[in-house]
Amino acid sequence: MSQAVACINAGSSSIKFALFMLGKDGVEPAGAGKIEGIGTAPHLIAREPDGRISTERRWPQGAALSHEALFGDLLGWMREHLTGQEVIGIGHRVVHGGTHFFAPAIVDDALLEALDALSPLAPLHQPHNLAAIRAIRAVAPDLPQVACFDTAFHHGHADLATRFALPRALHDEGVRRYGFHGLSYDYVSRRLRELDPGLAAGRVIAAHLGNGASLCAMLAGTSVDSSMGFTALEGLMMGTRCGTLDPGVILYLLQQKGVSAAEVEDLLYHRSGLLGVSGISGDMRDLLASADPHAREAIDLFTWRIAREAGALVSTLGGLDGIVFTAGIGENAPQVRALVCERLAWLGIELDHAANRGHAPLINTSASRVAVRVIPTDEERMIALHMINLLLPTREEVA
Ligand code: AMP
Repeated sequence: MSQAVACINAGSSSIKFALFMLGKDGVEPAGAGKIEGIGTAPHLIAREPDGRISTERRWPQGAALSHEALFGDLLGWMREHLTGQEVIGIGHRVVHGGTHFFAPAIVDDALLEALDALSPLAPLHQPHNLAAIRAIRAVAPDLPQVACFDTAFHHGHADLATRFALPRALHDEGVRRYGFHGLSYDYVSRRLRELDPGLAAGRVIAAHLGNGASLCAMLAGTSVDSSMGFTALEGLMMGTRCGTLDPGVILYLLQQKGVSAAEVEDLLYHRSGLLGVSGISGDMRDLLASADPHAREAIDLFTWRIAREAGALVSTLGGLDGIVFTAGIGENAPQVRALVCERLAWLGIELDHAANRGHAPLINTSASRVAVRVIPTDEERMIALHMINLLLPTREEVA
């Protein structure tokens, strides 16, 4: 019987999943999907690798759907979909591995307990990641599960890049910079090595621009700095998150305006970023389509902040050989890529506008001193590769 793995990326209101079959030379996609509207009106849609819808299911508005019931259904669908295949494990994106977990790990009671303890560091993500693992354990206790950490790719940062200028005791208890979107950057770094080994060996900034957004400075394919730090709030302006903010603003809100900590959290995570500045939407597509000057201002601020953070990472790298755009906005919004590159023209970046508009993989002119690439990310595939290398150690490593 041939073998397959499943990957799960569980958030607060949505769960993304993907199936991969093990082939001779790596993994082959075998279907993927998403459940959205968990807690409101759940909607599952799954597609074949060619994009055809294979399953669609809607639950009634307000359906009281437990995680166990949901994952029971999902496992049922996976097994049906993979008739004749043995599912050897389920891999999960887990946002926070803290300082101790920097390699994919098989889930057991001790690991779950240790990861629970990290939930206060990523309160909006980690509990959902762990709830998915627990729900699957409840319905399939013997199925191996693997946790893959979003912080892991940044584990090798030099001590300086991990520090806030706070008293040492706070750093020692974990109040430090970790970096996130690591599965995405790990994948992009590997793809870049395949596509352009010369550039991959140099100084590269990868820009993961999706609903969450960050930059990663990579030296010879290894992360040396990130715009994200202690939580997924630092750095760039995002869909609904503010990015870097003078901490004095938070003191002002708490002390002068009597805003509660919960309200501040909601403001910083859900009501800021593109949504807060435009007053229209946190979705880049809506803003690009809008003639409202506030939409334009939000896009300008988004790209200005990217260029500003990129300048900081160029300093860490001591120069720049290439930029790689990825994730929803990075892969699909040529206007945003052009605005960012325009602001970084001082680095010798020259964009080939036709290639950019045509979504070519390489979008710089031949005169550009810096290469500009677009690499679609695939966090689920990265999880699958990590999982196979962990669960089948005798197999030749897949990349
Ligand atoms: P992600 O979190 O990677 O799924 O990215 C979501 C973001 O990508 C949202 O802001 C979307 O508006 C944006 N996005 C997706 N497709 C496009 C597109 N064709 N043009 C512009 N932005 C897009």
